[in-house]
Amino acid sequence: MCGIVGYVGSKSAVDFLLEGLYRLEYRGYDSAGLAVQQDHQIAIRKKTGRVGQLADLCERQPVTGTFGIGHTRWATHGEPSDINSHPHVGGNGEVVLVHNGVIENYSILRNQLRELGYVFRTGTDTEVVAHLVAHHLFEEIKLGANPGEIKTCLRAVESALKRVKGTYGLAMLFRDVPGLLIAARLGSPLVVGIGRGEHYLSSDAGPLVGRTEEVVYLSDHEIAVITPHELQIIHRDAGTQTPSVRTLEQTTSDLDLGDFDHYMLKEIYEQPQTVENALRGRLDEDEASAKFGGLNMQPQELRRVDRIILTACGTSWHAALVGEYLIEEFARIPVEVEYASELRYRNPPLTDRTMIFAITQSGETADTLAALRECKRKGHPTLAICNVVGSTIAREADGGIYLHAGPEIGVASTKAFTSQVTVLTLLALFLGRMRNLSYPAGKRIIGHLRAMPEKLRQTLGCHAAVKDIAQKYYQAENFLYLGRLYNFPVALEGALKLKEISYIHAEGYPAAEMKHGPIALVDEDTPSVFVVPRSNIYPKVVSNMEEIKARRGPIIAIACEGDDKIADLADDVIYVPDVDEYLQPLVTAIPLQLLAYEIALLRGCNVDRPRNLAKSVTVE
Ligand code: GLU
Repeated sequence: MCGIVGYVGSKSAVDFLLEGLYRLEYRGYDSAGLAVQQDHQIAIRKKTGRVGQLADLCERQPVTGTFGIGHTRWATHGEPSDINSHPHVGGNGEVVLVHNGVIENYSILRNQLRELGYVFRTGTDTEVVAHLVAHHLFEEIKLGANPGEIKTCLRAVESALKRVKGTYGLAMLFRDVPGLLIAARLGSPLVVGIGRGEHYLSSDAGPLVGRTEEVVYLSDHEIAVITPHELQIIHRDAGTQTPSVRTLEQTTSDLDLGDFDHYMLKEIYEQPQTVENALRGRLDEDEASAKFGGLNMQPQELRRVDRIILTACGTSWHAALVGEYLIEEFARIPVEVEYASELRYRNPPLTDRTMIFAITQSGETADTLAALRECKRKGHPTLAICNVVGSTIAREADGGIYLHAGPEIGVASTKAFTSQVTVLTLLALFLGRMRNLSYPAGKRIIGHLRAMPEKLRQTLGCHAAVKDIAQKYYQAENFLYLGRLYNFPVALEGALKLKEISYIHAEGYPAAEMKHGPIALVDEDTPSVFVVPRSNIYPKVVSNMEEIKARRGPIIAIACEGDDKIADLADDVIYVPDVDEYLQPLVTAIPLQLLAYEIALLRGCNVDRPRNLAKSVTVE
């Protein structure tokens, strides 16, 4: 969380900083701030609230200069307030910095620095880093170093970071060295954009799109010393590194809203295309299987795998649950789905035949990254399913599968979910075909997968019906979401979407499980959303609906087209195309995304920037 930008060059820094912060705002929007350097002056503007408010402030109180840093905050330590907004100042203004992450030993460091006379003005953990760097700068100067030299600043940063525990992406300016930007990374992502006579810095590639196509991703324990004309990267242990320059593939149109009012709606509507992208080039008709470019594992190694752990957080965790059902069904390999935040601290017995898959949209999720590293450290093959090319998890995993869904900007994940489910279906097919799944069965699955983009297009036709239903129920304060088998994770996901963007309390459960507790919540004001497309256990779900009906609970059903019977039982029905059971999550998720969206709009909520949340959770 938190977005960082930086610029050193010959153009107006504020223009890039504000534009970049707008693009990073999905990562945090408690407050925003920037610092711009002109000669030996660093001007700071910062403000609680959205980037727009910072832009207004910068209009009222303009800043000029061609070197600068900016930040959009998701507070971890200290309430969102003007004073706690980044940038923060160290010493007497010698250092100005922005930070993404958490300084775990900030309290000890603050006490030590206070004793040395440093005055703390904010409630953040970040301020200690600013003073610490300033302190080491003074120490260097005491030893005779020249405060105007880059190497003095670099040494101060290195000494300060040795004392810091926690995670950070940092960008700093130095009052006495105009044009110097030092960035450092441990746990929080940073990418440098290379221009002509200019360099950019950002938490992700979004702000760099349209500015440059050449980027360098920083790794943990690396410090980047950046000036308009030079980029030097120093690793804590390995010393100076040759920057590995990669090419950006995004275009600015990926980031435009187009005709949509919100990114979330745009992304819901992109799903026929994004599912098609996830399938492209991966269906192997000859072998009746799937193929992937980047798994980096030999068939013999894959054949040995006898247990798979899918680890993820949030929506990706729900996609993983669908993956569990798919892989166990097609490949008969036992699968466990683990919250990454649990797995990282647990000590599950894993064998040398256990394979780990980390699932994450951003590829930066702190808990997922930590879980992946823990498994990797133990010597297990670690693979990733992620969307953001070049992200930390994509780089650190031994191999993986990209979603190719394009940037997901809406904080509530939508298209990433269906792309993850698509990729997991392909993975299940692939692993199944290495085992007992027959050639005709593989062929059938391929045929069904090919039809999915069109089925999703048809599914979006339910939007008008969903709008009417939202109108009827948007004032409810509790919702239940119920589904079975492949649609159980969809029920969880539907409930999560509603919670995230409308702030309505919602619980997802396996439909039969509601008898064991949640049914106590049912009354005339608590709608139950049943995900009940045709399946082998359709009659069982219908019985569960009867149980709710008997208690006067309103029912919204997500059912297959042509299922007229369901309308006798449900108060409202949203019809989706009939697809094979294992592919149902792809179609049934869509009306639930739309329902959450429409309800949130009616309740006046900010669907793209829900309160307290941020995308890409890069703190623990
Ligand atoms: N810990 C810092 C703060 O609260 C940065 C937070 C973050 O990266 O999300 O200001």
